Amino acid sequence: MVWLLTLVVLLPTACVLWFMTQAMQNERLAVQQELTDFYRGQLDVLRDQLDGFWAQRAERLAQMAEQMPASAVFAECVDNDLADSLIVTDQAGQLAYPKPSRDFALEDGEEDSAWSAASRLELKDSDPLAASKAYADIAARATDPNLAARAFQAQARCLARVQKFDDAVGLLTQTLGQDTYRHAVDARGRLIVADAELRALQLINDSSDEVYSATADRLTARLLDYQDTVMPSSQRRFLMMQLRQLDPELPAFSLFDAEEIAAMWAESDAELSTDPGVYPSALTDVWELPSTGGHVLALYRTEGLRRRIGQWASAKALPTDVLLEVLPPGREPGGPSPVVSTAGEWMPGWRLSLSLEDRSMFDASAERQIAAYLWTGVLVIASTLAMAVLIAWAVRRQIRVAHLKNDLVATVSHELKTPLASMRLLIDTLLDAEEFDGRRVREYLHLIGRENTRLSRLIENFLTFSRLEQNRYAFKPTDIRPMDIVDAAAAAVRDRFQSPGCRFDIEAAPNLPTLVGDADALVTAVVNLLDNAYKYSGEDKHIILRAFARDGCVCFQIQDNGVGISRVGGRRVFKRFYQVDQTLSGIGSGVGLGLSIVRAIVLAHGGTVDLDSEIGKGSTFTLRIPVRNGLVGHAGEAGQDVT
Ligand code: ADP
Repeated sequence: MVWLLTLVVLLPTACVLWFMTQAMQNERLAVQQELTDFYRGQLDVLRDQLDGFWAQRAERLAQMAEQMPASAVFAECVDNDLADSLIVTDQAGQLAYPKPSRDFALEDGEEDSAWSAASRLELKDSDPLAASKAYADIAARATDPNLAARAFQAQARCLARVQKFDDAVGLLTQTLGQDTYRHAVDARGRLIVADAELRALQLINDSSDEVYSATADRLTARLLDYQDTVMPSSQRRFLMMQLRQLDPELPAFSLFDAEEIAAMWAESDAELSTDPGVYPSALTDVWELPSTGGHVLALYRTEGLRRRIGQWASAKALPTDVLLEVLPPGREPGGPSPVVSTAGEWMPGWRLSLSLEDRSMFDASAERQIAAYLWTGVLVIASTLAMAVLIAWAVRRQIRVAHLKNDLVATVSHELKTPLASMRLLIDTLLDAEEFDGRRVREYLHLIGRENTRLSRLIENFLTFSRLEQNRYAFKPTDIRPMDIVDAAAAAVRDRFQSPGCRFDIEAAPNLPTLVGDADALVTAVVNLLDNAYKYSGEDKHIILRAFARDGCVCFQIQDNGVGISRVGGRRVFKRFYQVDQTLSGIGSGVGLGLSIVRAIVLAHGGTVDLDSEIGKGSTFTLRIPVRNGLVGHAGEAGQDVT
C-alpha cells in the first residue's frame, strides 16, 4: 500500500522533474540560438562594411599619392592615423618614401685637388687650423652652394678641434643658416644644414643658451617638415634619435616609429604588392595594404590594425553591450559565448567575433520562462502530493472502517452469546424440574430478567456506538433539568445496585441550572459510567453519583471504590475497543465501547470527561456539560483507534 502510494507520487514527480529540466535546457538553448542569429546578422553587415572600409582606404591612399609629394603622403597618413607607416613609390615604381640617400657629385670638379689638400692637412698632418683656412678658401671660391656648404661644415669641424667653439657654432648656425644653403647636401645626399645644426647643439651643449634653443627649434621644425623632400629618411631618423638623446626633455617625434617601420620594410627588399587586401608583410607582426594602383603601401602593426577596426566598429551603431573583437589568424575570441565569422575578402585569415558583455537581458527573459516552468512543475508535484495524501487518507479510513466492522461483529457475537447462554441455561433448568418451586422460579426469572437487561443495554450500546460512528446519531436538544438525568440514570441501575454488598449514594446540589441537550444520550453516558463503577468494584461496593455546578458547567461525577485504572490505562480507556487487562482481578470482560460512547456524547454537548483514578482505591469520572453552549452537534467518531 505504502509502496503503491510512493510509486504514485514518485513516478509523476520524476516525470515532471525530467520535463522541467528538459524544458529549462531547451529554453536556454533557444536563447543561445536567438543570440547567435542576432550576432550572425550583425556580423554579415559588419563584414560587408569592413570590405567597403578597406576598399575606400585603398582608394584614398591612391588619391593622396596623386596629390602630394611622397614624404607629405607619409606624414599625412601617419598623422591622421590612416596607417602605422607607409611606403610610397613614384610613377616609375621607384621607392619615393622612405627617401633613399644617394651619392651626390659636385658640379665644381676643379676644386677636387684643393679639397684633397685640405683633407690631408686635417686628417694626415693633423693641422686643423691650417685645414680650416684651406676649407675657408674653398668656401670663398665656391660657386656651387653644395660645395660651399660642405667647406663651411668642414671648417667648423676643424675649428672645433682647436677649441674655437664660438667660431665653429657661428659657422654652423649663421653662415650655414643662410637661405643659399637651405638645400645643400653632402656627398651622400644628406642635408648639410640639418647636420650642422645638430653639431652646433652638441658644441654648445647648454639648453639654457639662446643660440642653443633657437637652433634646437629650427632643427625640430626641419625634422617635422615633410614638405621638404630633400632630407633622406635615414638622416631624418638619425637626427630625431640624436636630438632626443641630446635633450630628453624634447617631446618624442610622433613619426619616428612610422619612420622605423618604413625603413625596416625598405631594408627587407620586399616586393611592393598590388593585391587588394590586408596581407602579412615581410616584417613580423606588420600587415600591408596596397593602395588602388599600388603606388602606396600602408603598413599596420597587428595591434594597430585591431585598434583601428575597433574604432571603426565603435562608430557603427552596434548595441552598447555587444563586444566586437578583430582576431588576427590564430587568435581565439575572449568574450562570453562568442559568434565568429570571417573578416571579409579584404582581410583573409582574420576573423570577427561578437559577444554580449551583458547577457542579462537575454538571461532575464530565459529566467522568466524557466521560472514559469518551475512554478508549473512545483504546482503539479504539489497537487500530486496533495492527491496522494487524500487517497491515503481515504484508503486508511476505508481500512479502519473495515477493521471496525470486523471488531464489532466479533465483539457483538461474543458478548451476546454469554447472556443468551445463561438465560437458556436458567430456562432449561426450570423446565427440567418435575415441579415448579415458586421461590426458585421467582429467583430464576429474576436472574433471567437481569440477563435480559444486560442484553438490552449491550444492544443499546452497540446501536448508539454504530450511529455515533456513522454520524447518524440524531441528538434531540431539549431543555433538561440535571436532576432528571440523575433520577433516570439512578432508576436504570437501581435494581442491580440494591443487591447486597453495594452501597449507592446520590449527592445532587440543589437548584442546578437547566441544560440544553439530548436527555437520553446524557442518561446513557451516566448509566455507562455507573455500570462500569459497578462492574469494576469488588465485593464491597460504594458508588456515588454526584451532580453539581462549576465554572459555567453542570458536572456529573461517578465515584467508585473499585479496582482503579493505571495512569497509562487512564490515557487510553476512552478509545474504542480498548480494555484494561482485568484477568488478574477476575472481572468479566466488557466490549471496550462504553467509555468511547461516553466521550462522544460529552463532546457532542461541548463538554469534557475527566478521570481521576488510583489502582486499588477506585476511580472518579467527571462529565462537564457547559450550560451555555448547549448541544454543539455530533461528536464525530466515537473515539480513536487503539494504538
Ligand atoms: P468495557 O467496560 O465494556 O470493557 P469501557 O469502554 O466501558 O469498556 O471501559 C474500558 C476499560 O476501562 C475497561 O475494560 C476497564 O478495564 C476500564 N474501566 C472502565 N471503568 C472503570 C472503573 N470505574 N474502574 C476501573 N476500570 C474501569
